[in-house]
Amino acid sequence: SAKERGKNSYHMFAPDLQQITSDKMFIQNELNRALALGELTLYYQPQVNASDGTIVGMEALIRWNHPERGLVSPDQFIAVAEETGLIVPIGAWVLQTACQQNKVWQDLGLPPIRVAVNLSARQFLKKDFTQMVADILEQTGLAPHFLELEITESTMIDVHRASNTLAELKQLGVYIAIDDFGTGYSSLSYLKEFPLNRLKIDRSFVRDMKKSASNRAIVSTIISMAHHLELKVIAEGVETNDELAFLQEHLCEEVQGYLFSKPLPLEEITSYMQEQTLKIS
Ligand code: C2E
Ligand code: MG
Ligand code: MG
Ligand code: MG
Repeated sequence: SAKERGKNSYHMFAPDLQQITSDKMFIQNELNRALALGELTLYYQPQVNASDGTIVGMEALIRWNHPERGLVSPDQFIAVAEETGLIVPIGAWVLQTACQQNKVWQDLGLPPIRVAVNLSARQFLKKDFTQMVADILEQTGLAPHFLELEITESTMIDVHRASNTLAELKQLGVYIAIDDFGTGYSSLSYLKEFPLNRLKIDRSFVRDMKKSASNRAIVSTIISMAHHLELKVIAEGVETNDELAFLQEHLCEEVQGYLFSKPLPLEEITSYMQEQTLKIS
């Protein structure tokens, strides 16, 4: 039964091929059901201006509210969704929901901010991707510059398709960030060729900055390289004031992490935004 199977998660299964395959199918069936029954939900984490602390964006992070397993994190189902192709309808749902929510916040009179949405390569590289984004913006009434798409370096490996899509998206007016920057194996040459807006420094470099001189070197070098290429920088996983101070000193424009807020469900993040707005007005 689902309950018995639910005791284990995909990656914890014994490395037996038969088992892995059937577990993948199990998760696939469950995910299909989750999408249809509305068990998927978005949490939001603030992205903050490093110099004045104002909220400039919200990253949408998917969660699966499973009836028996409780809240399941994306690390436990995104890989299966990618392999099975379910990431395409799930990703469309995420984009639609995040854009619609950002418009609702604006209609509530909150200061306008971006919403950042994570994309899988498989979703991004589909032929009709730009058209889908355009349709969602049109339908939700969200202006394109209030949407940022986060892609990873691995998406760039298919250079030709990625560059076509990026050119279309730039034309449309949405922003593009490279997520987990510095952890992929792709060439840096795409940075000067493609129309990108922001590099997002991976958490693994930010995390140990206090102890690790090499992490500090990597972080300051990414920031200065980005600025030479006229790209903005956001650091993810900022947890301490020391980390924030280092990033400010090196003129990193934006920060995101537990120091400001964990990702929160809709109602909580909306209250958080309202409180922050009262503080500064
Ligand atoms: P990501 O996009 O790099 O997101 C950052 C992850 O770090 C999030 O984990 C976030 O909750 C966590 N995080 C943020 N600040 C801190 C911090 O200060 N300290 C620590 N320790 N962690 C922090 P989460 O929400 O579990 O998401 C994991 C990954 O799942 C994301 O990494 C992203 O690659 C993927 N993902 C999430 N939502 C979606 C989605 O809608 N579509 C796709 N394709 N992938 C998604
Ligand atoms: Mg992200
Ligand atoms: Mg990231
Ligand atoms: Mg990451």
